[in-house]
Amino acid sequence: MGDEAVALGAVHAGLTAAYAYPGTPSTEAFEFLLRYADRHGHPVASWCANEKTAYEQALGVSMVSRRSLVVMKHVGLNVAADPFINSAIVSVHGGLVLAIADDPGMHSSQNEQDSRFYADFARIVCFEPANQQEAYEMTREAFEVSERFEIPVMVRLVTRLAHSRSIVEAHQGEAERPLDKARDPASWTLLPAHARGLWRRLLDTQSEMLSLSEESPFNPLELSDDDRGLGIITTGIARGYLRQNLSDLDYTPSLLHLGVYPIPVSKVRVLAEKCDRILVLEEGYPLVERQLRGLLPTLLPISGKETGELPLDGELTPESVRRSLGLPTRAQVQIAADLPARPPQLCPGCPHRDSYDALREALGGYELSIVNADIGCYTLGAAPPYQAIESCVCMGAAVGMAKGAADAGLFPVVAVIGDSTFLHSGVTPLMDAVAADTDMTLMILDNEAVGMTGAQHTVLASSRLEPLVLGLGVDPDHCHVVEARPNKVNELTAVLRRELEHRGLSVVIPVRECIEHVRRRKAEAKRS
Ligand code: SF4
Repeated sequence: MGDEAVALGAVHAGLTAAYAYPGTPSTEAFEFLLRYADRHGHPVASWCANEKTAYEQALGVSMVSRRSLVVMKHVGLNVAADPFINSAIVSVHGGLVLAIADDPGMHSSQNEQDSRFYADFARIVCFEPANQQEAYEMTREAFEVSERFEIPVMVRLVTRLAHSRSIVEAHQGEAERPLDKARDPASWTLLPAHARGLWRRLLDTQSEMLSLSEESPFNPLELSDDDRGLGIITTGIARGYLRQNLSDLDYTPSLLHLGVYPIPVSKVRVLAEKCDRILVLEEGYPLVERQLRGLLPTLLPISGKETGELPLDGELTPESVRRSLGLPTRAQVQIAADLPARPPQLCPGCPHRDSYDALREALGGYELSIVNADIGCYTLGAAPPYQAIESCVCMGAAVGMAKGAADAGLFPVVAVIGDSTFLHSGVTPLMDAVAADTDMTLMILDNEAVGMTGAQHTVLASSRLEPLVLGLGVDPDHCHVVEARPNKVNELTAVLRRELEHRGLSVVIPVRECIEHVRRRKAEAKRS
């Protein structure tokens, strides 16, 4: 898998520690590291409360001169954006690599955002592998570049590469770096007086970063004598889609592939001088296409996503690339029309089913109510037959949104969040609700796992949730832990009815282990 190639590349770069929060399509990179650490006793690998805490821990490893990796999905970088952007101006000491998996097509995500924009925004180097071998090589190279420029470096994957398999040729691994504290604390202390100088230093290094990408073998330029005026720029996995179609053209276009950013301006100009039109094939947002419009003569036609040659949303495919080249559509494999539809749904016997049965029952009779929910398996409760929740925006948003609805005067208001998501970013908005004694009921569906991404362990055990909630100041008389089981639905309904009527904040924690987690736990026990 592309994910695993990144993880192995990091291990072979002398990795000391890695941190992550699970999120499709990045999860498998970290699962590989956990298995590796289990077998070999290193590196340190831990799931974290959220992407921000993961990033900060990786930064701490770097400060003492050792190499660290932080893994997340694209939307996770919104959570980690604060330490990420700021870390671009500290003097990264041990190599720090951010492996990020974008999800064009939203196979398992709430949006399609393109992490290359974040790398550009932070003014750091970004590697974008085209295949699994490059995922391995580029990750190793990313650690070198990180230490050379004293910046974090991003390795950006997309779902199709992260989850597809290929044989990778691995090389000799490196030793772990010696422990050595960063000698200049000022370069890690972003007081304005220091930060201004560090920001200037980052800006002054941009030309060196540009030279790196101009000279990089990951950015090959192939000029053709018979390109009929067409120059094609590919990035990452789009190169593979182009190759699948090239032999059907009766000419050979000139090609520039981008695997390293910043965009190598000179190579782009050489291509542009030779050709009289440019087609950009890139997975994600039209980043390169937009930047070219600022680099090249305005009369040179540049086509891609913004001009409609490729779709603006979803994943690229060999067929969409084929259409952009003006080639006729190939015969499609026909999918049998009578295959049964299989919309995603909660596993049979999932504890969330019992919680939603109780919630629907408890809410019966109210003229107007609202249930704000969050991200996890329980989001599937939005679909029939449950239709039990009315929002899903981002990790932790349920709690703040419910508080807002209650502040606006709606009654009754319910927030639904999972245990892992609550620990990720539901704790802080609950503090706001505690401070205001908001008239709302928070349900923390505690299944002792990060269910949706494959039942990883949560950072705190289930038994520690209630003390945490009480520690935040929730009234013990309005905090209840109830089992989520078919034969306890009536009990849970009664508790919910009471707390919905309570004028003030209440917390109800339905608890039963995720079935997938039980399966995983038993399999692990059998292996050990
Ligand atoms: S994986 Fe676990 S939490 Fe998710 S639907 Fe299945 S049983 Fe429920």
